[in-house]
Amino acid sequence: MRVNIPESDQERIVIVGGGFGGLMLAKKLAKCNYQVVLVDKRNYHQFQPLFYQVAMAGLEPSSISFPFRKAFQRFDNIYFRIGEVQNVEPEAKRINTDIGHINFDHLVLGYGAKTNFFGNKAFEEKAFTIKSTGQALNLRNTMLSDYEQAIIESDFEKRQWFLDIVIVGGGPTGVEVAGALSEMKKYILPKDYKELDAKEVDIYLLQGSDQLLQGMDPKHGNTAERYLKERGVIVKKNTRVVDYDGEFVITKDGGKIKAGKLIWAAGVTCSRMDGISEESFNSRNRILVDDFNKVKGYDDIYAIGDLACMMSEEYPYGHPQVAQPAIQQGKNLALNFKRRQQGKALKPFKYRDLGTMATIGRNKAVAEIGGFKFKGFFAWLIWLFVHLYALIGTRNKIVVFFNWIWNYMTYDQSLRLIINSNNEVKHEKPE
Ligand SMILES: Cc1cc2nc3c(=O)[nH]c(=O)nc-3n(C[C@H](O)[C@H](O)[C@H](O)COP(=O)(O)OP(=O)(O)OC[C@H]3O[C@@H](n4cnc5c(N)ncnc54)[C@H](O)[C@@H]3O)c2cc1C
Repeated sequence: MRVNIPESDQERIVIVGGGFGGLMLAKKLAKCNYQVVLVDKRNYHQFQPLFYQVAMAGLEPSSISFPFRKAFQRFDNIYFRIGEVQNVEPEAKRINTDIGHINFDHLVLGYGAKTNFFGNKAFEEKAFTIKSTGQALNLRNTMLSDYEQAIIESDFEKRQWFLDIVIVGGGPTGVEVAGALSEMKKYILPKDYKELDAKEVDIYLLQGSDQLLQGMDPKHGNTAERYLKERGVIVKKNTRVVDYDGEFVITKDGGKIKAGKLIWAAGVTCSRMDGISEESFNSRNRILVDDFNKVKGYDDIYAIGDLACMMSEEYPYGHPQVAQPAIQQGKNLALNFKRRQQGKALKPFKYRDLGTMATIGRNKAVAEIGGFKFKGFFAWLIWLFVHLYALIGTRNKIVVFFNWIWNYMTYDQSLRLIINSNNEVKHEKPE
């Protein structure tokens, strides 16, 4: 079945995925002489850098999400369809999705990355991840439900299962989650769960290598480690996790930690797309592209963002899988689509590294921007400003800003709701 989209004389660009890359590309193609069709399995853009605040009940999901239809209200040449893309037929120039097929003149793949469990089924089945708003909410619900269970459990050993948390991966996400959890332990638990002894809550951060925030200056890794330890987080470096049975986390050195929640923040990988040839992928399932984001072996298929691997002398393994390469590639590709119509030469992509940063709870962060290095309160202010600026939607910026101010002044946030869906109404399309 063909998905219903008005036919037009304009060439059609189909974008798969409205993440940082896909959304930027679509917006930059607004009012152009192309018909643009964005297909995403969700009807909203997610601001992934703040997922951890949703998981820690610091922000509502709606304040870091933006509906695609609202983003495109004013643009007649942009169409949105909610659908999950299953495969590509390059010869027929069409994609197949769970809602039908869509023809394209140009296809841009920007479906991002997924959690990398390195083939370990136990982690895949039992670990919590925060790679989508749904997963962040699930973690929030579970954590709050576990505190409720812990408060009615009189046996110390059994209580530990509900309270202790292991975070695997000492990159920015792991560090930020650990920082937020330590704040919850210090400021929220003693107020909300007075009968619980917050000291019973153990937060572990396990890192496989000998440095947190690998990729940043080692001094910043050490600073982050010190900040976390000051807040009571148990940081274990050179510690590889090998198994988890839902009760005990097993480490390579024979260690055993009892914890009902293991949060997996140890890296991402990509998914292959059926129909795109094997040779177009590298060993980490990223799609090999040239300097114009064109997929190796195709003339009319492009890849951007986390999914794309554009190798250069400076980036022999492709650009880092963070927001800026995706945003900048989206912009550059839009520019090139326009230049193509104007008969102008295309511009090769050049990445402008705007820096990296991570926050460790209130007042503390580390940041590296354009050769300058900051830590402490000033770095934290930069972190706040950059994330507010990058959020999509004025309403979201205002809501998040006031949430942060409120949280900063009151040390409290009133978002700790356990909302589980138990809708049993059958709502099915008639045959
Ligand atoms: C917890 C977390 C914290 C992060 N923190 C930071 C940070 O602080 N700074 C930073 O720069 N980066 C951060 N990142 C990384 C950053 O979010 C990604 O690099 C960025 O989102 C990549 O953009 P993208 O456009 O390639 O893909 P994404 O933003 O991942 O978007 C992919 C889109 O494709 C859609 N999709 C997926 N599969 C299909 C399909 N089959 N069919 C249809 N649609 C599909 C998804 O719904 C999604 O909308 C973080 C990531 C995570 C998970």
